[in-house]
Amino acid sequence: MKTSTSPLKFNDKADFKKAVHKQRKSRKAALVAKEVQASAKIDAYRTDLSGGVISAIALSPIERKAYYDLYTSKAAEVLGIKKSVIDLYGGMKLCPYCQIDTHKDLDHFYPRSVFPELSISSQNLVPACSACNTTYKKTKWGNGNSRSFIHPYFDAVPDVQFLFCTVSLLPGKLYKISYWLKRDPLVSTSVFGLISRHFIELNLEVRYIAKASSEEVPKIARIIEGYASYDDRLRELSNFVNQQCVANLKNTWAHAFHQALSPHMGLICR
Ligand SMILES: [Zn+2]
Repeated sequence: MKTSTSPLKFNDKADFKKAVHKQRKSRKAALVAKEVQASAKIDAYRTDLSGGVISAIALSPIERKAYYDLYTSKAAEVLGIKKSVIDLYGGMKLCPYCQIDTHKDLDHFYPRSVFPELSISSQNLVPACSACNTTYKKTKWGNGNSRSFIHPYFDAVPDVQFLFCTVSLLPGKLYKISYWLKRDPLVSTSVFGLISRHFIELNLEVRYIAKASSEEVPKIARIIEGYASYDDRLRELSNFVNQQCVANLKNTWAHAFHQALSPHMGLICR
């Protein structure tokens, strides 16, 4: 999970206007018919987001299709919007929703099937991994008056730890791993509710366990196998675990996993 907002800058309304007016005649007519309302919706994006609830504008079936298809238009203006979002994320390799996989898709935070008027709003386009985009998030965005997902650009997630991990050692050097959330008193119940829904809807516990089991557990085994004495193993493993705790931000699966290993170091090295 991301723990800070992004400093992205947007010029969505101007980009939208340019893109609409470069479309072919039939599609342009349908877009222009609701241009004022769509533009107002783009303008109100952050206000709607912070209110937690957003309503789609009324569109006829033809207008709905025109707005939905605007995203796949080959017009230079539309391609430019997509490219600008990806370029702004150049230095950020991991999907901001899960921090597990690299981002290869562009997700519509508010799905374009429900909010086609936001189909080319860069505020609404989030580079995401395929699992988050197409397996878990899909066309979900909220439930009743509550949003289901942390918005990577606009939601300020508090800089306190809320993601924790528990590791138990089982016979045969097997690891039983679980992840859980705990509310710090500095985090409001409403923000913690959003964090919890995000965690559940994206199936993050299962995905974090899979990641820790497939990537970190084998690294630990290699360290243990590489040293003959208990003291050497303990020293090397402690160094590795401490490095991983520092290198990974709190509220990432890796940080929580390595933090959870601390009580078990002696047993692991035996
Ligand atoms: Zn993801």
